[in-house]
Amino acid sequence: CRYQGVSYQEQLRRKQRITEGLLKKFGKVEPIIGMEDPYYYRNKVHAAFGRDRKGNVISGIYEEKSHRIVSVDDCMIEDKKSQEIIRTIRGMLKSFKIKTYDEDTGYGLLRHVLVRRGFTTGQVMVVLVLASPILPSSKNNFVKALRKEHPEITTVVLNVNDRQTSMVLGDRNIVLYGPGFIKDRLMGLTFRISPSSFYQVNPVQTEVLYGKAMEFAAMTGKERVIDAYCGTGTIGIIASGNARDVIGVELNRDAIRDARMNARENKIRNVRFVPGDAGWFMEGMAAEGEKVEVVLMDPPRSGSDRKFLHSLLTLSPEKIVYVSCNPETLARDLACLTKRDYLVKKMQPVDMFPLTDSVEVVCLLENRRTRPGRA
Ligand code: SAH
Repeated sequence: CRYQGVSYQEQLRRKQRITEGLLKKFGKVEPIIGMEDPYYYRNKVHAAFGRDRKGNVISGIYEEKSHRIVSVDDCMIEDKKSQEIIRTIRGMLKSFKIKTYDEDTGYGLLRHVLVRRGFTTGQVMVVLVLASPILPSSKNNFVKALRKEHPEITTVVLNVNDRQTSMVLGDRNIVLYGPGFIKDRLMGLTFRISPSSFYQVNPVQTEVLYGKAMEFAAMTGKERVIDAYCGTGTIGIIASGNARDVIGVELNRDAIRDARMNARENKIRNVRFVPGDAGWFMEGMAAEGEKVEVVLMDPPRSGSDRKFLHSLLTLSPEKIVYVSCNPETLARDLACLTKRDYLVKKMQPVDMFPLTDSVEVVCLLENRRTRPGRA
């Protein structure tokens, strides 16, 4: 939280200035859309567990560039309910004889606790990340006691992370209670969230962001659409209602599985999801001479790559809607796209992460060659 102590209005002004500094050369940057209530917005709360010098159990976040745990009792950007659950767990460890894991010695069991809450459904998932799959015999009583304190918990998952790594979650999930996932609703559609699947952490602003992306795409129902870097398919599934068909492409196979499940659950039949590198997929589409009207893209912080951008230019869709969580890589990629056929028509920053220095930007590009009005 680099913007602690800075008023929200000033935070927004700074983000606007940073975004304009990077993107002004491509056109007008619309005023950033902030939150009405910029606190307690994160639907995913993660706490590392350990001990302080006196041996007391602590939970919190890592100090920057280190694995020293800074004890956090109350954080102003994290969901309140989820934080309460983490405090309850911290208080229960002693009586259940659950030791926290020590990264230096490798002793102990509990490494992290992850809580995710569906803001619209109220469903809550607790993930206990343990260093070993050997469960304490008291685990059922532990879950029972936790649910007694917090009846709103709908699922509890034990995740095994036995490796020396800074990744929070390991590969193995064992469901201790409930279905092993939660559901949430976005723009009237239902999405499944598993322990490790990507889901936007600020659901209030996600609707604003996706709403802008749809407004920019302005589809009529006749378009063939690609949702590149689609994650669990949220953007593509939302777009499918106004498109002829949608193809989503995504590297992470678990996310693809969730995306397919999400399409089925919402009874949507005009989307399909392809696992693989987005650049590779786009090259294939371009090589086969496929026609695509709209490309929606939402790459990670590192932005897109040459392969993807070049195939995008070959494929030559009428519109590109670029959703970016890093204006620096967005500026780099826009420079490539505007050198040839594309014009930047709109740029809209959205504040997805109040109190931090991150900015999200939705950008509309139009193809000069297929622009209506050009004979
Ligand atoms: N559009 C989704 C997810 C965006 S996060 C949403 O809004 O929820 C970016 C996604 O890009 C991640 O799911 C990541 O796994 C995926 N990704 C990263 N590199 C990729 C690549 N080279 N090809 C395809 N997908 C990639």
